[in-house]
Amino acid sequence: MIVIENIPDMVYLRLNLKEPVGFVPTMGYLHEGHMSLVKKARAENRTVIASIYVNPTQFGPNEDLAKYPRNLERDLAMLDKEGTDAVFFPEDKDMYPAGYDTWVTVDNLTKPLEGNVRPTHFRGVTTVVTKLFNIVRPTNAYFGQKDAQQALVIKKMAADLNMNLKVVVCPTIREPDGLAMSSRNVYLNPEQRKAAPVLYKSLQMAQELFANGEKNADVILGQMTTLIQKEPLGKIDYISISDTETLAELKIIKKTALVSMAVKFGNTRLIDNVILGM
Ligand code: AMP
Repeated sequence: MIVIENIPDMVYLRLNLKEPVGFVPTMGYLHEGHMSLVKKARAENRTVIASIYVNPTQFGPNEDLAKYPRNLERDLAMLDKEGTDAVFFPEDKDMYPAGYDTWVTVDNLTKPLEGNVRPTHFRGVTTVVTKLFNIVRPTNAYFGQKDAQQALVIKKMAADLNMNLKVVVCPTIREPDGLAMSSRNVYLNPEQRKAAPVLYKSLQMAQELFANGEKNADVILGQMTTLIQKEPLGKIDYISISDTETLAELKIIKKTALVSMAVKFGNTRLIDNVILGM
């Protein structure tokens, strides 16, 4: 496995890679959720490239950029074990040199849900992902359903800007108790960690209500809220039932819906989602 730290070397390496090239962008501190994307990329491509880059522009001023967890050695060992061919590990000074002045934005899809609470987040994500796509030029790029809005926004950006690649969205990988895997789960203290599966429990409750014929979004949201509020350590940031494509809030669920949420445990903000009707 080759580790590449600067942009010209990555561009040069790309010239002679076997096609198709699968790409898995990450912020590191890898877990089985990330590795499921690498495995899928390995199965579908002749070359697999992962990136590790904690992108400063997608963090808000009061977010966890400085203390975002890192463990490069362990990450590289995990990527190597899954047969990753190259890891791109750029530096801030090369990604955002002095005078950096260009931003990619997706307007409407980034307004609700995460965008409503984190107003500059998606601009950072779409900008860095565009830069990474331009440097790596993947055939296929792999993202997790865990970050449902991010996956939709990147798909939209790739379509609207005629990016010549396929965006592949992979299922959410969970701990045995249902908590969605996340690099941020390490921030949880033991009591918070014990309480955190309530997110997925409430999502399962939504699935069950819908399967039993409940179509009224407010009824489902009401029951989910009651369940989460029984867990005093969790504070709901938002819970939403929205259209799976436009993210517009739904009152009545027809065929499918995205049920998504953010819940805070202390300073740690967890997100999770399921799609109903699929
Ligand atoms: P991150 O390092 O958090 O930026 O995540 C990198 C990629 O891994 C994103 O496409 C995430 O959606 C995806 N990912 C993170 N957690 C999970 C998970 N539990 N299951 C599946 N994919 C995930």
